[in-house]
Amino acid sequence: MTRIAMIGLGNMGAPMARNLLKAGFELSVFDLNADAVAQLTAQGASSAASIAELLHAAPDVVLSMLPAAAHVERVYVGAEGVLAHLTRPTLLIDSSTIDPQTARRVAEQATQQGHAMVDAPVSGGTAGAAAGTLTFMVGAADADTFARVQPMLEAVGKNIVHCGGVGTGQVAKVANNLLLAISMIGLSEAMTLGVALGMDAKVLAQVINMSSGRCWSSEVYHPYPDVMDNVPASRGYQGGFASQLMLKDLGLAHQSAKHVGQPLLLGGLAEQLYQQFVLNGHGQLDFSAIIQAYQASH
Ligand code: NAD
Repeated sequence: MTRIAMIGLGNMGAPMARNLLKAGFELSVFDLNADAVAQLTAQGASSAASIAELLHAAPDVVLSMLPAAAHVERVYVGAEGVLAHLTRPTLLIDSSTIDPQTARRVAEQATQQGHAMVDAPVSGGTAGAAAGTLTFMVGAADADTFARVQPMLEAVGKNIVHCGGVGTGQVAKVANNLLLAISMIGLSEAMTLGVALGMDAKVLAQVINMSSGRCWSSEVYHPYPDVMDNVPASRGYQGGFASQLMLKDLGLAHQSAKHVGQPLLLGGLAEQLYQQFVLNGHGQLDFSAIIQAYQASH
């Protein structure tokens, strides 16, 4: 059985690790947070106190789920990082959401040392991680490398897509979340205008969903309170995908667009709206709460 060494057991990494254990993989884990490690060892993983210790047993695969690019750089290419401690060619999978430039730079260093590295960011949130229904967007150098990561990702996800070469998983993630932010803001603007002009919110939502304005936010994740059951808008915008994480992803879009000299007009505005929302103390609210930017505060 494939032996996986996993780094990063936070909101996403911990449930992913549990699904790998359930699927029968031999799993060893490391996180700076000792409690997170203890929870996984109680469920059958073996633990390590450092990256050096984690890699001492020469695993077949390293899988990471870390907050941001700086953590990924430190964990892989830092003096005490993964590349410094691997003793044989290993398959490396980074599922953190980071900018494509960093993903490509780290993968290039790994490749130079004889390892295969893919970027495999996810969509689906913590609920998808727990249910094992995540979508993985995979940037892999070739079909063979993609085929090697597939069995592991299938234990944790439902849709595993080969997006292209290294870095394209992050490109797909950045492009998708850029569009998601813009469409959520657009829907919020349309809904609040319609209600201010005298329309019932539920009826307007119904009409939009039968018409050309419909989108994922209108069909399954409506931002207007009480239009839809079981969405953050119907429980005070608790849970779901935090506005500060959306702001992070818009920052990645911004940074990447700058890198290739591509204009980001609506994306720039979306980033500023989320920046202001986070500054006003709403970073923990679900990203659909951005509709409040169009509503009188109470
Ligand atoms: P998190 O902050 O809950 O977890 C990150 C974990 O990494 C923490 O347990 C932390 O201790 C650990 N860590 C940080 N630096 C480390 C290091 N040097 N060595 C070992 N461990 C280290 O974050 P999360 O919500 O699990 O998100 C992880 C990634 O997934 C992020 O890039 C995020 O953007 C992305 N993502 C999150 C969601 C979501 O809904 N939470 C959805 C899709 C994608």
